[in-house]
Amino acid sequence: MELTGSALSYLLDFLCGRSMPDSGVEYPYRVSDGQRERLRIGYVADKDKWEHYDIVFVPSGFFDSEDYASEASLPTGPLPRIEGVPFLYGEARLERLDGCLAVYADLPASAFVLLSRYEEICRPSVRDGHGRFPGKESLLYRNGLIERALVDEYRDLVWKWAAGLGFRLPECRPGFGKIWLTHDIDAPFYCRGLRAFARESLKGKGVGVALRWACGPKEKDPYYTFDFFCRTDNAVARSASCPVQAVYFLKAGGTASQDRPFYNLKSRDMQGLISFLRAQGAVFGLHGSYSSGKDGKGCVQEKAMIEDALQEKTFRFRQHFLRSCEPSAFACLEENGLWEDFTMGYADVAGFRLGTSRAVRWINPYTGELSELILHPLLVMDNTLYQYMEMGYEESQACCERLLGEAYRHGGDACLLWHNSSVAEGPYPAAPVDWIRKLYADLCRELKSWQNK
Ligand SMILES: [Zn+2]
Repeated sequence: MELTGSALSYLLDFLCGRSMPDSGVEYPYRVSDGQRERLRIGYVADKDKWEHYDIVFVPSGFFDSEDYASEASLPTGPLPRIEGVPFLYGEARLERLDGCLAVYADLPASAFVLLSRYEEICRPSVRDGHGRFPGKESLLYRNGLIERALVDEYRDLVWKWAAGLGFRLPECRPGFGKIWLTHDIDAPFYCRGLRAFARESLKGKGVGVALRWACGPKEKDPYYTFDFFCRTDNAVARSASCPVQAVYFLKAGGTASQDRPFYNLKSRDMQGLISFLRAQGAVFGLHGSYSSGKDGKGCVQEKAMIEDALQEKTFRFRQHFLRSCEPSAFACLEENGLWEDFTMGYADVAGFRLGTSRAVRWINPYTGELSELILHPLLVMDNTLYQYMEMGYEESQACCERLLGEAYRHGGDACLLWHNSSVAEGPYPAAPVDWIRKLYADLCRELKSWQNK
């Protein structure tokens, strides 16, 4: 498999610190005869060509290997380290030549594997009951690296080597690039309409309460926690020194039982909710159904549905259950104009699924092409903490702080996912755990003070 020219140059750009054209971070540079010369970085085996570069990564043979896309191509055993930073391919060796530094640690291949979800195509039989690649099976988790933004550490190494060659470094102070406060609306309401009223009445919890929920103002429904989110999210935005955006992901279809409850985006309740959130500065994305997560195909119809209900173009996307089963589903998103994906965290473990805290364009591991699709790393989902990792408040808070701290240190993004239903307040129906609402409020308070550091 060969990376296309644009994919390779993007990958090298990313390793130099430039993730997006408008990220504001430029290459390391030096000034010669009054001209800025940017660091020349190459990925070339032919020694005769090395003189054209300041830093050359020597290919390890990963991309040319016959084992490409098979499990045999994945590293086994402890990972080698260069200057203390683990990498996946090549050797921990640097060679200083005339005016050029040759790096035998194959950081481009290592970064590619992490950023593209390559290991998931190598191990197609390793999936959980929902068809997802489990975080605990990942190279990063098994090597104790899931809480490290490893590819961002590769950038730091490149900068350190560039500085050693006399280059000046672009300014990159610690701080978040952007804060994404995101909410998946799996169930907008607990008990609205006649059917829900009947269900609750049969449970014997009190006809009066059920009647009030079902027929009273929607704001009285236990799952209507949107005031809390808007208040909390807008307080972060007000004190921010970086852009902050609240995003609500709405379902628009699906046929699986996991897609229940189905809701109608054009109903009066939902239209009222959408207007309210919009007025509060929130934006929307499509919450792709469980059934479309298998191969991404159902997203076409769902995109049309949500655009009709919102009366606007929708390009943000997150799969329900984080059920993005195969990397090939990304190609489907791209084809259909869903250009910004927010699914890339693991359900079973919080951390850096892509090995970076920065938004990154997807490189298709089947074809080597650079996609238009932008992947926004998801740091943590609420139920990952209490359901999958079975942690309590204190452990969860410490875990989130470590992850946010890592993103902050690398100038990356902070993306949190909290559901409206998980912060519902009692007495009935109570949230699954009673501290997840407090944790969100506490993390948001911390985000504010972090930004002002
Ligand atoms: Zn969901």
